[in-house]
Amino acid sequence: MGPRQTTLGAAVELAGVGLHGGRPCRMTLAPAPADTGIVWQRVDLPGRPAVPAAVEYVINTERATSIGRGEAIIRTVEHVMAALAAMGVDNALVQLDGEEPPFADGAAAEFVRLIQQAGVVELDAPRRVRVLTAPVWVGEGDGFIVALPAPHYRISYTFVTDHPALGTQFADFVIDAATFGRDIAPARTVGWLREVEALRRRGLGLGITADAAVVATDTGLLAPMRFPNEVARHKVLDIVGDLALAGRLAGVHVVAFRSGHALHVELARRLKNLTEEDAH
Ligand SMILES: [Zn+2]
Repeated sequence: MGPRQTTLGAAVELAGVGLHGGRPCRMTLAPAPADTGIVWQRVDLPGRPAVPAAVEYVINTERATSIGRGEAIIRTVEHVMAALAAMGVDNALVQLDGEEPPFADGAAAEFVRLIQQAGVVELDAPRRVRVLTAPVWVGEGDGFIVALPAPHYRISYTFVTDHPALGTQFADFVIDAATFGRDIAPARTVGWLREVEALRRRGLGLGITADAAVVATDTGLLAPMRFPNEVARHKVLDIVGDLALAGRLAGVHVVAFRSGHALHVELARRLKNLTEEDAH
């Protein structure tokens, strides 16, 4: 048999605060049987409803990717999804006691550590992947994202601003567990100080701390970036998470320019139409 499906070796837990509500929250990552995929569960709601992490359940892509079914809504799934996908976890149950996972470090490094703590174990079932054989393109305005057939899962991203400290950034990575953990997971998103202040006035963004984002003022940054192209690297992280909503991809080079969650999820929708086959 070729590559097998995986799950977590044990249940692991992380406490923190949600990005928007700023309220304490708790997340458990638990093992799940073969062919479950990643399923999120609201353990604080009656009946503990579950929502599969699949593109059909996306309900919002403004600022973050949110999924829902009926009353059960889960906001900002992309960083946890990216960590699970890149660390090779095919099946898991993500239990939350509120609408959002912990904001953690603003990126995915804490989620990577949590998955490493749980361990990744093989299940007795073949891994299924979607294999791309022709280009798939989606775009809006001057932003686009295209998936091209390629020997490896690779993502190239171009971030463009005229901000003096951020400028234009490019990031390009083959996506595997080691590269993701080292070069991508620590990369934070950009937060504009003016927007952060406006969000706070609306009672949102309360989980954002000064070191959990690259915070840009009109002329500079509140603190130096962790990498010269940190924002572009974070966009690669977002794409790994959003495309995981299409299942596991193989042989895809994703090239993106000024794209956000809406375009990433639209690409995931198109890629979901590809037939699945056993990995080899
Ligand atoms: Zn993000």
